[in-house]
Amino acid sequence: MPVSRFVTDSSLDELARRLRFLGFDIETLRGARLEDLFHRARRDGRIVLTLSARRPRRFASVPAVTVTRGDLAGALRSVAIAHEPAGAPFSRCPSCNAALRRRMSFEARGEVPGGVLRGNQALHDCPMCGKWYWEGSHTARLREWLETALGRPIGGPPAMA
Ligand SMILES: [Zn+2]
Repeated sequence: MPVSRFVTDSSLDELARRLRFLGFDIETLRGARLEDLFHRARRDGRIVLTLSARRPRRFASVPAVTVTRGDLAGALRSVAIAHEPAGAPFSRCPSCNAALRRRMSFEARGEVPGGVLRGNQALHDCPMCGKWYWEGSHTARLREWLETALGRPIGGPPAMA
């Protein structure tokens, strides 16, 4: 299956965040109109991810996925079943969609809790927002939610395996 990349607006922020945890490349255009999303999708070879069933006629050839509001797990599953993510699970920043960088523990001093540093685990940071990421109780809960939603294990990036 070829990799699918998406573009959406802030009405699907929570779905976009969770899909990014699965490795999907989801660009969010804040305050965009539906036409803006279709325009960007056509320009960049992306798929429009939207709550709107409306399809502007001049964008009839641009692929779009319509999801329904209120069923986050169902929406996530419908996208994940039919599309290939751009990267491994937990390899993108859930906030800004940038690919995370693997970092060494000496670079993380002062940035992550001491216990995390001593735990010798894989550390990543986001080149866009500067936030640090590591496997912790939050990721364990999130992983459980994602696996329940998908009905299968999701694995992790090579660095965290
Ligand atoms: Zn970020």
